[in-house]
Amino acid sequence: MTLPTLHNTDLLRTQWLIGGQWVPALTEDLFTVINPTTQATLCTLSSCGAHEANLAIDCASKALEDWKHTPARKRAELLYQWFELIHEHLDDLALLLHAEQGKPLEEAKGELLYGASFVRWYAAEAERNYGRTIPSPHSDKRFFTFQRPVGVCAAITPWNFPSAMITRKIAPALAAGCTVVLKPSEETPLSALALAYLTLEAGIPSGVFNVIGGQAEDIGLALTESPTVRKLSFTGSTRVGKRLMSQSAAHVKKLSLELGGNAAFLVFEDASLPQTITALQQAKFRSSGQSCVAANRIFIHESLYSSFPEAFAASLDSIQCGPLINQKALEKVQRLIGDAVEKGAQILLGGEVESGTLFPPTVLADCTPEMDIFHEEIFGPIAAMGSFSSEEEAVQLANGTPYGLAHYVMTQDMQRIWRLSEQLESGLLAFNTGLLSDPACPFGGVKCSGIGKEGGREGIEEYLETQYVCLGMD
Ligand code: NAP
Repeated sequence: MTLPTLHNTDLLRTQWLIGGQWVPALTEDLFTVINPTTQATLCTLSSCGAHEANLAIDCASKALEDWKHTPARKRAELLYQWFELIHEHLDDLALLLHAEQGKPLEEAKGELLYGASFVRWYAAEAERNYGRTIPSPHSDKRFFTFQRPVGVCAAITPWNFPSAMITRKIAPALAAGCTVVLKPSEETPLSALALAYLTLEAGIPSGVFNVIGGQAEDIGLALTESPTVRKLSFTGSTRVGKRLMSQSAAHVKKLSLELGGNAAFLVFEDASLPQTITALQQAKFRSSGQSCVAANRIFIHESLYSSFPEAFAASLDSIQCGPLINQKALEKVQRLIGDAVEKGAQILLGGEVESGTLFPPTVLADCTPEMDIFHEEIFGPIAAMGSFSSEEEAVQLANGTPYGLAHYVMTQDMQRIWRLSEQLESGLLAFNTGLLSDPACPFGGVKCSGIGKEGGREGIEEYLETQYVCLGMD
């Protein structure tokens, strides 16, 4: 085992957190966490199943009564404390994240700071869950509303952002007065457990935040079949999201689904080329392309197409990518490149695995909608480019997918920016930048990319129910 050397070894947890206790699962099953950079085993954990999920739900349910009645200002103070502790332990948390996920250390720190910013944002929002009075047309009636916490929530998160995908859910849930059972990906449980440890250190009461992991299907069934769990927030693939949605129907659970994307990156003839190159590097290579908002289909106006792909390839000398998460991810990238080349794409840069699952920045030109690479999430550092000849065609190409998470547009034309804002089908739209996420803003998709938002005022509404009260007067 080659675990990173931490300043605070308490952050390395290899047991689950249920009701404030660190416990192993009772199943006989074990799973290993692998360092994708070295392929070394980091540690072995016991696999939770339905039994542990139900225990965690019970603990979250018991903790709910006190937590939802804890004054909002107190909940805010505890969340600020959690935020401070994440900053204090940034180096250790980054080492853990880098070890289990593979992204370079500086990028791991960037994710942690981004993730922590959601904790600070929702600490402030905790105190702003106002109800309202509604003017009554009747002299003998008064109308008003309360904002109530939804109750016990379940959260299921992926491996590509092992820290930020958690804080984006847990901070608004706790701020709203909900308690949570989290199941992180079995590829990356250590960041989740370290964050959970810091909630206890911050003084957040036992049972408010519980973490279990292991047998995904069994845990998913237990969480969705439980009538106690009133909400599920899931980030992951559209395939699993659809399944969880149908499982949640039995008890009509409130749902947030942050699912897969197939972002278009449109470069118009009036784009600033230096700005385009920087934006595309950011939108394509963050997390080695393993991001739901990664630019998946890059369409260049025909007037720029003869020079842009080569110029972009030449700009990638200094781009540092970590490994892909596992062998399956590598095989997918290789299959998509193979299919594209067979159908006429040209490899301008990269294209071959370096070692293990380390894949270099790759540029593919002459890609077309007939290729699988334009229909599936690549989830790797492959910039797949094709061309378009008119704005109308660009919109058609961008919208020609069942997904609608993010699109990017490079143009200096304000009229075009307005027109495309109205025409592009996506929950997120970035003009002249490759980085669009911020805790103050609502993040989430349309169509098969999901329902609900994380971030902004909308992100806490997902954990609140509006209760309407009608009062008859004498
Ligand atoms: P995934 O296979 O859907 O897994 C996501 C989570 O669901 C993991 O914790 C996984 O557990 C769990 N899971 C798998 N099968 C399950 C089941 N039957 N019941 C309950 N839970 C189950 O997705 P992934 O490959 O980890 O993540 C990549 C996907 O996430 C991409 O499609 C990406 O676009 C999407 N994503 C979306 C956003 C967004 O905000 N829209 C953000 C990041 C990622 P195990 O890992 O333990 O098997």
